[in-house]
Amino acid sequence: MTVPVVTQMLKPEAAAMAQAARIFSLGGLVAFPTETVYGLGADAGNGEAVARLYEAKGRPAFNPLIAHVSDGAAARKLARFNADAATLAEAFWPGPLTLVLPKADGCPVAELATAGLDTIAVRVPRHAVAQDLLARFGGPIVAPSANRSGHVSPTTAAHVLADLGGRIDLIIDGGATAVGVESTIVACICEPALLRPGGVPRAAIERVLGRALTEATPGIAVEDAPLAPGMLASHYAPRTRVRLDARSVAPGEALLAFGPQGVAGSEKALKTLNLSARGDLIEAAANLFSHLRALDAAGVTCIAVMPLPHEGLGEAINDRLRRAAAPR
Ligand code: AMP
Ligand code: MG
Repeated sequence: MTVPVVTQMLKPEAAAMAQAARIFSLGGLVAFPTETVYGLGADAGNGEAVARLYEAKGRPAFNPLIAHVSDGAAARKLARFNADAATLAEAFWPGPLTLVLPKADGCPVAELATAGLDTIAVRVPRHAVAQDLLARFGGPIVAPSANRSGHVSPTTAAHVLADLGGRIDLIIDGGATAVGVESTIVACICEPALLRPGGVPRAAIERVLGRALTEATPGIAVEDAPLAPGMLASHYAPRTRVRLDARSVAPGEALLAFGPQGVAGSEKALKTLNLSARGDLIEAAANLFSHLRALDAAGVTCIAVMPLPHEGLGEAINDRLRRAAAPR
């Protein structure tokens, strides 16, 4: 359950912008205008802040988020740019173009924000309020549309308040957004591919690249499953077998625990990591992908996962665990 908070709504004056940057540093949530739609922002480097963001949106699944940065140099700390990516960034940033790229070594963005993938979506927004916030905060901010899951994307601060009032800390009211549709998403992993049409027209991108964009797998909504050709995985999946609802540990297994209690044979687990020893779903969400990766690398026969509650963020955590356990 989200703890109700008082949501402030302020104009983008200096004091309000300083407060917004402070809220980000403390792991809180601030909605702000970009040139596309209002975004719900959180410190991209803070896994628990990202977990709170998913909880506020009420999303039943974790899908990867776009990291917003102030310029191309900041983007290069998060992602590796090939020649096409550099060309597109030069032509369209700042602006409504998102690039999906391989993560850079030492990328500071939380695993939860990229849903455990080895790729990351980055964008440099043009809106003055977004730019000012990024400059003041000094780090990447993840910002999906500032609406409850399943609702339409908000183009005014009043829309955001109606949807997320009582669930987020602050709304910066910078007036109606100009573009009103989401950013165009292009993956530059191998051949540049259009993952989602949006604010920058396909033709403009193809003109700059000097060739056609390839298609993401047709018929598959990127919003639900970021599936695309080549290296683009649909979701993070460990190589090791995953066993859900484990009430005991068998020889050769690792244990992904949750809560203060163990299960039968806990002490026999070859390696144990606890998503949250105090049974906190925010902490569990923040640890989910990094713990799965660590256990996957431990050379065990199977990862046994203790049961987790289904309410609140538990729904999204269980959704990811189910996918990780699906036979391949
Ligand atoms: P939004 O922030 O609400 O505009 O949505 C973010 C979009 O970016 C979703 O459609 C995601 O699936 C997509 N996205 C973010 N990261 C990746 C990634 N690493 N690979 C593919 N798609 C991504
Ligand atoms: Mg959205």
